[in-house]
Amino acid sequence: MAQSDPEDREFKFSSNLSLEEIRSDQHNFCKERNWAQFHPPRNVLLALVGEVGELSELFQWRGEVTRGLPDFSAHEKTRVGEELSDILIYLVDLAEQCEIDLPRAVKEKMVKNAEKYPVERVIGRSDKYNDYPEYLLQEAPAGEEPQPEREEGDGSE
Ligand SMILES: [Mg+2]
Repeated sequence: MAQSDPEDREFKFSSNLSLEEIRSDQHNFCKERNWAQFHPPRNVLLALVGEVGELSELFQWRGEVTRGLPDFSAHEKTRVGEELSDILIYLVDLAEQCEIDLPRAVKEKMVKNAEKYPVERVIGRSDKYNDYPEYLLQEAPAGEEPQPEREEGDGSE
């Protein structure tokens, strides 16, 4: 069981920049440059994946990294912020290109996550919900082992 992190401390962002503001700014950024033609969903998705790769490079070969990145230089930490920003901008752009209302989708997904991982059942556990004994089918046929419930597309197939 994972122990609570003694270095766990409160961290907050400095502003309440909205996803809609990011969407609008990025939309206008592309429109002014006549780049909307290059931003169909597939292209934006691939750009997003590329930015995840750029972020990953900053963490590559370092071994475990401590919260707050105390072993990163100021320049490296700035670069982490830049790559995180690129990821968020492309993520919001992708949501627009897919016409997904991302703020609503995020709130709905967080509700689903809370239902899937109720505190009293999962506190201190890091395994996936469908590996919990409680989630095994209750009524397996006689002589058969109960099987974990599988959710289509959850990567557990
Ligand atoms: Mg980048």
